[in-house]
Amino acid sequence: MSKPSAAQWSVQQSIDLYGIQRWGNDYFGVADNGNLIVKTLNTEVQLLNIIEGMQERDLQMPVLLRIENILDAQIKRLNDAFSSAIAKAGYSSHYRGVYPIKVNQQAQVVDEIAHFGARFKHGFEVGSKAEMIAALSTLEEPDSLIICNGYKDEEFVELGLQALQLGFQCFFVIETPAELPIIIKLSKAFDIKPMLGVRIKMTSQISGHWNSTSGDRSVFGLTTTQLIEVVDSLKTENMLDCLQLLHCHLGSQIPNIQEIRSGIVEACRFYTDLVHEGAAMTHIDLGGGLAVDYSGEQSSEEQSRNYSLEEYCEDIVETLKETFDESAIEHPIIVTESGRATVAYSSILLFNILDVNNFESSELQTSQDTEHALIINLREVLEYMTPKRLQECFNDAYYYRDELRELFKHGQIDLRSRAVGENIFLEILQRIYNQLDDLERIPPGLENLKLDLADIYYGNFSLFQSLPDIWAIDQLFPVIPIHRLDKAPTRQAVIADITCDCDGKIDNFIAEFGPSKTLALHPLQEGKEYYLGVFLVGAYQETLGDLHNLFGDTNVVSVRLNQDGSFDFVKEIHGDTIADVLSYVEYQPQQMAIRYRNTAERAVKEGRINARQRQQIMKTFNASMQGYTYYEKED
Ligand SMILES: *Cc1c(COP(=O)(O)O)cnc(C)c1O
Repeated sequence: MSKPSAAQWSVQQSIDLYGIQRWGNDYFGVADNGNLIVKTLNTEVQLLNIIEGMQERDLQMPVLLRIENILDAQIKRLNDAFSSAIAKAGYSSHYRGVYPIKVNQQAQVVDEIAHFGARFKHGFEVGSKAEMIAALSTLEEPDSLIICNGYKDEEFVELGLQALQLGFQCFFVIETPAELPIIIKLSKAFDIKPMLGVRIKMTSQISGHWNSTSGDRSVFGLTTTQLIEVVDSLKTENMLDCLQLLHCHLGSQIPNIQEIRSGIVEACRFYTDLVHEGAAMTHIDLGGGLAVDYSGEQSSEEQSRNYSLEEYCEDIVETLKETFDESAIEHPIIVTESGRATVAYSSILLFNILDVNNFESSELQTSQDTEHALIINLREVLEYMTPKRLQECFNDAYYYRDELRELFKHGQIDLRSRAVGENIFLEILQRIYNQLDDLERIPPGLENLKLDLADIYYGNFSLFQSLPDIWAIDQLFPVIPIHRLDKAPTRQAVIADITCDCDGKIDNFIAEFGPSKTLALHPLQEGKEYYLGVFLVGAYQETLGDLHNLFGDTNVVSVRLNQDGSFDFVKEIHGDTIADVLSYVEYQPQQMAIRYRNTAERAVKEGRINARQRQQIMKTFNASMQGYTYYEKED
């Protein structure tokens, strides 16, 4: 579907249209030549140049691109923002961040966080033995915290106690009363004093998608009765001085700052009373929840947030200070577990467009004497169309078209006549659509016309593998072309992936004035690639993905930008081969090759192919097995 194009188009219009400044956290911009740029540390690089570098290294689309500098900068921003807020409020303790590994567990990401976080003693939150082992073997700064949540068996506890012996600051957060006896038993057996925390169930209600993490029915945390039991058991064991940390997690992606504030006040009350009970409290851990403004709307809507990082930190620090000062409690070390906000910005999914399907009429055929009355009716609609009669024309067009389809079904008109009619029908819709902008009010029946006429752009990626949250929870991610941004995007489109699943599509986008079902894109140019990027995909997307249609992991590239505007390919991981994904679902690629070879050999014996053809057939088979699961361009 096409709209008359604006003759003049500036890169600023692209920036506004795609909301780059609203969601980009200052990391993205557009160069005068229309290429999207990544910006950090007074340096900027055009994404298209990075893609060219990938091509030279045979890293085909789709590619998950990680910009190391952005991860580095996000960790710094978080720590700096808390430090400033603490200085500003006169809070008399400090901040210690931990990164919850579940948000992106990829070894390279966890490694980079350990590395960039070391100067802030940024630690890890772990929820399983596997994550615990990842944390223990990557942390560079032993003074950083390791916060152990989740169900802990003896082995988990043993790992944690030994980490304490090595000098790590490892807290066991008690989530259920059943964990305590195991911890007490083992710490006595090993003669190590554990560092303990308690996770409480909060009653403060949180809006947004992840609200069930709080409230009475939350599956996590201790009820007040259980909390008292834990305190009493520790007293009996003479171990109350081990209890030093209060943990709460209100939920992820909390859009409204008011709710964060009221949650903290509740947490402070628990902390204060634990101090009064005699626990040697030192840390208050407020969990995750710092939201990412995916839609760029800066609102308290689910995919947004109505606060900045600075406000988040200041609100937390001020609320803690006020509440603790009132009850004369010494200021604890502030811990947060920001996952999403730490990693979302640094990953970008890049893919090329393979093809476009548009819903435009082809040139109208001149009318024939023998034409069916319904086709003549359709032609007449074009003649009586005026701005005032658009709704009527729309209704008529649908009526005649549907009648035509009925006749076709009953064998009363032929295929060619039906095609002529369908083409006129599309022309009518197109002309109606082109006049809608001139109307003051769009008639209710015509609101969906934009979507009905939208092009389908076929992208070389699998939604289920690379963007699972779009499918699972209607998550919104910014999608934009990474070049040609100096030209008007004259098409309106939805994006389909290359799985053959009708759910494999993106039809929810950020537009200039709020969410939109279609995305403005440029027409494809013959023989030239058109690249799109999906942004803010660093959190959760990589490991929640699945092997739908056996599309595997994409290629992954980590890039570091240098001050002089150059960039280094620091790491690359080639995505799954077809043999890889087949073996994930228990096929045995070697056996498969042998069987296929036997089939081919039999065909030679039966005289259907010759030996040379057999060789070619096996070559294709083996090359496919070792190839990428996505659409590959021939060299
Ligand atoms: C998931 C989770 C987090 C991360 O939350 P974000 O909103 O991504 O920052 C933090 N803490 C706990 C206990 C979690 O389960």
